[in-house]
Amino acid sequence: MVKPQPPFQIEHFFTGEIEYDFKCLSTILDALDALVYVSDMETYELLFLNRYGRAEWENKSQDQCFHIRQQGQPTPCEFCTNPQLTDENNQPNGVHIWEFQNPVNQKWYQCRDQAIKWVDGRIVRLEIAFDITEQKQLEQQLRAAHAEAKSTANTDPLLNCLNRRAFFERFESMLAHCQRHQHPFTLVMMDIDNFKIFNDKFGHRFGDQILLTTASVFEKAIRESDIFARYGGDEFILALPNTNQENALGLLSRIQKDMAKLAASPDSDFSVTISFGLTSLTEKSNVDNLLNQADIALYQAKSAGRNRIEVYQTPSDNTSP
Ligand code: GH3
Ligand code: MG
Repeated sequence: MVKPQPPFQIEHFFTGEIEYDFKCLSTILDALDALVYVSDMETYELLFLNRYGRAEWENKSQDQCFHIRQQGQPTPCEFCTNPQLTDENNQPNGVHIWEFQNPVNQKWYQCRDQAIKWVDGRIVRLEIAFDITEQKQLEQQLRAAHAEAKSTANTDPLLNCLNRRAFFERFESMLAHCQRHQHPFTLVMMDIDNFKIFNDKFGHRFGDQILLTTASVFEKAIRESDIFARYGGDEFILALPNTNQENALGLLSRIQKDMAKLAASPDSDFSVTISFGLTSLTEKSNVDNLLNQADIALYQAKSAGRNRIEVYQTPSDNTSP
């Protein structure tokens, strides 16, 4: 059989009585809306390229596949699948389907690679690649929409901090981690004092502003590993992993000072104070009793006059809630 000269179209391979059959084959391959090429597995010489490929990479003369597909790249592609297409006896071992983004034209392809026995008997690489760029873009848009929907579901629309739902999603696993590793953990519930008065006196939008300012004071004071969330209304919750009671008290008194500074600003004729209820992890702790304890401590802070930090005290009879 005479080796064809470029360009590599199937009709050049054969003459005579079987010419018709192979013209059919050529017509089919050239009509495909997919790249079809064959290359030598050792030299990477391009042995066949269908019309789709020729249009994409122009009608190149005899060359190596990586030269053409990667526009002049001097060496085989790092991601070349040739090694995966044959077994230890250099025999075809099936079809390998994968996706990749061509770094040159940025298009995404789904590739169906296979080693096959070529017309002259050698084992060569056959690739059929479909352009899936549009599908990938749709997938990316869907992923982004999904992430946005998730973030909206977890975020308080006014304060842009985590909401109660998001808090519980994270709280349980954080608590379990601290318990497993015997790390300290402190939970704080807090509520703005006499918040209704701000709404009544200055209007609801002013009240919103107070909530925003309060949330930003907390966001600035805490670590990335802490969970701060709006629990509802003017009530917030703060989970502090790796934080013992003493350190938590230090943090809260810094926050109290920051809130007081806001009140001391020249254009404000009001002050915002917060009551805090705090509890720390013990061997008997679980999600429910920690929440309950922090809530009891917060109630005590309110009852004792507000603008206070109360630490939950285990009853002396040891019947913790
Ligand atoms: P206390 O010291 O006992 O906490 O008194 P309080 O006035 O703060 O009472 P409470 O915490 O029960 O009041 C919460 C108020 O917060 C009631 C509600 O109208 C108001 N509120 C809840 N959500 C919002 C909001 O998103 N924006 C505004 N401006 N007000 C809100
Ligand atoms: Mg309140």
